[in-house]
Amino acid sequence: MVRPTRFPPLILNGHWLKDGNATLFNDGKKAIIFLNGDRIPSTVSGGPLVNDEYEFYNAHFHWGENDCRGAEHTINGTWFSMECHLVHWNQKYLTFEECLKHRDGLCVLAYLFLVQSGSCDWSNVQFEKISENVKHIQNAGSEIKIPANSLSWMRVATDCSSYYTYHGSYNAESNSECVTWIVFPAIIPIQSCQLNEFRKLKDKNGEFIKSNWRDVQPLRGRQIFLAVS
Ligand SMILES: [Zn+2]
Repeated sequence: MVRPTRFPPLILNGHWLKDGNATLFNDGKKAIIFLNGDRIPSTVSGGPLVNDEYEFYNAHFHWGENDCRGAEHTINGTWFSMECHLVHWNQKYLTFEECLKHRDGLCVLAYLFLVQSGSCDWSNVQFEKISENVKHIQNAGSEIKIPANSLSWMRVATDCSSYYTYHGSYNAESNSECVTWIVFPAIIPIQSCQLNEFRKLKDKNGEFIKSNWRDVQPLRGRQIFLAVS
């Protein structure tokens, strides 16, 4: 089902710089991170993206009611606790909305988190820049400034020698097939208590957002490539 394929090097630029600002926001459905202020645009190019450059739009998280399942991707049937999507839009189109109409409109980088068993005597320190601030955005519509390099946890997972890539849809609302997905198989460890902060977020009715992941989608003849260096 998965075809090993050689692609040019995948190039990420700017995501974990200390310049500028980052904002953590509760939109009533999920936790979202925006990069803003005085910083260069964070971009992804190369790999399966042909000759286009994609600019960072937002990062957001999906989680579930318990630590067993909350990610939207599975790898060989293995479930994960949480998933982060870094959404990027193709710079050759004028707006994000325009990108939703094109097959090569978006690139989403997907990172998988897995809660590690055992006590809370260790922590994913890089991820604390986010998890320590989630308690400040419990109400829908609230936001807080977080360190500019709050996405630094993604660096280690991005450095892995291979990743999965396929063409698919963006979200449950549109389902338009406009996304080049890039899924990094290097698992990011987190603590159960770090993840639990996300379940304390509330939607617009004041109810806890216990779960916001979309079930695994049918392949519908899609090919999944394993990019190897
Ligand atoms: Zn998502």
